[in-house]
Amino acid sequence: MTPPSSDIVIAGAGLSASLAAMRIAPAARVLLVDQKPDPLAGHTWSFHDSDIDAGQRAWLAPAIRRAWDGQDVRFPGYGRQLRSGYASLDAESLGATLRALPNVATLQARVTAVDARGITLSDGQRIEAGIAIDARGFRPHPAIQIRFQKFLGQELRLTGPHGLTRPVIMDATVPQQDGYRFFYLLPFDDNRLLVEATYYSDAAHLSADRQRAGIADYVAAHGWEIAEVVREEAGVLPITLRFDAHAFWRSMPSDIPTIGLRALRFHPLTGYSLPHAMRSADLIARHWQQGPRPLAKALRRDCLQDAARQGFYRLLSRMLFEAAAPDERRRVMERFYRLPEPLIERLYAGQSTLTDKARILTGRPPVPVARALRCLPGKLKERPA
Ligand SMILES: Cc1cc2nc3c(=O)[nH]c(=O)nc-3n(C[C@H](O)[C@H](O)[C@H](O)COP(=O)(O)OP(=O)(O)OC[C@H]3O[C@@H](n4cnc5c(N)ncnc54)[C@H](O)[C@@H]3O)c2cc1C
Repeated sequence: MTPPSSDIVIAGAGLSASLAAMRIAPAARVLLVDQKPDPLAGHTWSFHDSDIDAGQRAWLAPAIRRAWDGQDVRFPGYGRQLRSGYASLDAESLGATLRALPNVATLQARVTAVDARGITLSDGQRIEAGIAIDARGFRPHPAIQIRFQKFLGQELRLTGPHGLTRPVIMDATVPQQDGYRFFYLLPFDDNRLLVEATYYSDAAHLSADRQRAGIADYVAAHGWEIAEVVREEAGVLPITLRFDAHAFWRSMPSDIPTIGLRALRFHPLTGYSLPHAMRSADLIARHWQQGPRPLAKALRRDCLQDAARQGFYRLLSRMLFEAAAPDERRRVMERFYRLPEPLIERLYAGQSTLTDKARILTGRPPVPVARALRCLPGKLKERPA
């Protein structure tokens, strides 16, 4: 039998697979297999500086398109400049970094099965490797109950400078519709701006044409003029209300390392998954030479620990979606953004302390207490939506 030509084959070549490849190549030979011709296209992935540590920042650095040394939020009658840095990767910056790496190969094909030592493609071909990793993205599972953060964004070239020097991660001064609505702005250079219409919503559907019109109105209201719509991106991210991590992992094979949204690794309140994907990449670097089972075990342990720590964020998601009426959600967010900045940074990083949690939950409640109390049970109902 011919030996496998890759140490690691990864099913899926999205964010988590790409970060894993960046972290372990060229020490390991990696093959990324995705059904799409350009799996990274139409994505900007951002993170807060405090989400990752210095070592992670160092290995991620080549893939960063732009970093900023602060970020702003805007609510009616209240704006705040936060000093916490922010950075973004996009399909081009991450793709170019991957292509420059020796020992990373890609293949366009649909994967029909993953086992510990290889994958099977839709044409029946089998690809063997030292380890196969499953990174095929999100799929619904009965162990998780979700709502949605949905958005459509356009990267615009404007006819003149927009005047922004930092991202506006929430401009919630806009009329509220379909849940909590805000605009998200990333100033890539003086004239280039990513403008994203975003909703925390009970429904996943988003009308693209309506969002395009909303973006055009928003841009015009700021006195900006569009020279070119450079590209568009849209997404529907899961926001977790309830998650039985043990039930989820009992349903998964114990010898297949699984990462990214396929492993339900994301922040329950923001849907961001980049910091989790980086942690998984570090674990792969540490354990891949031990074989699939020890690596799968290390990843699973990390997921279970993380899920236990994230209970508080699932409670906040329930308060946002179940205790607050859709048009009250902005008030909940506004109150949160009045809290001390280190607390906000720790929440984004998933590292809230007990004092932070008490501080977030006490004070004048942004939603009626009786409705808030109904959100406390975190167990999955018999039939999650
Ligand atoms: C437009 C957009 C913007 C986002 N912005 C951010 C952000 O700013 N920060 C952040 O942290 N998160 C962000 N997210 C959320 C999350 O981080 C991303 O969804 C991230 O890409 C998830 O990474 P992943 O590797 O788990 O899945 P994906 O990146 O979705 O990759 C999964 C890949 O598997 C492939 N695949 C699936 N099934 C098969 C199959 N059978 N055979 C072969 N290939 C298959 C898919 O084609 C896909 O390319 C964003 C999401 C979207 C959609």
